[in-house]
Amino acid sequence: MGSRSTSSAPRSVIWRRLHQARDAETTRFWAFPFSVAVGLNGLPKIKERAPLDFENLERNYRPEAMLAAYQEAQIAAKLGEVPVGAVILLDGKVLARAHNLRESRQSPLAHAEVLALQGASAQTGSWRLSDCDLYCTLEPCPMCAGALVNARIRNLYFGAFDPKAGAIASLYGLASDPRLNHEIPWLGGKMGTECSELLGRFFGQLRTD
Ligand SMILES: [Zn+2]
Repeated sequence: MGSRSTSSAPRSVIWRRLHQARDAETTRFWAFPFSVAVGLNGLPKIKERAPLDFENLERNYRPEAMLAAYQEAQIAAKLGEVPVGAVILLDGKVLARAHNLRESRQSPLAHAEVLALQGASAQTGSWRLSDCDLYCTLEPCPMCAGALVNARIRNLYFGAFDPKAGAIASLYGLASDPRLNHEIPWLGGKMGTECSELLGRFFGQLRTD
């Protein structure tokens, strides 16, 4: 079997092959001998992943929340910030909203999603936001995706995909990595054209200034 040829491969290659097998839905037949072999090497075994409920994701989507996130992004643009906005919904109501403030605060942490999480935790008095949905105009970066996982966010909806820093689908899959202790069902491309045009106008303006 193939374990002999892959046992000398770097760990990242082994993980990628395990994930490819999982994504091809052959996990049950395939991952068991591998997970035993990997377990013997001292790595955590891969977990079974429940299939994502896309119908439920679509049903829970609130266009007005994405519009509110877009309006937050517009506020950021007026401040000379990269236009990204985020909104957190709890029971259909806006719990927190924020926009990127990296320049104003001179803080690498002041991304819209992190600020919205801080606002929501201040409102609820809890770091755990497992009943909350987050809407943002741009695919979260690795820092924000990590924060969303740590906050146990229920669902994630974002606008534009970010091929340069996106950590949900474009570069990494941090919201759907079974090695982490929480997975976030997500939908991207909501108001995607508007969100990416807003970013495009902002950077176009910067270039002409
Ligand atoms: Zn970020």
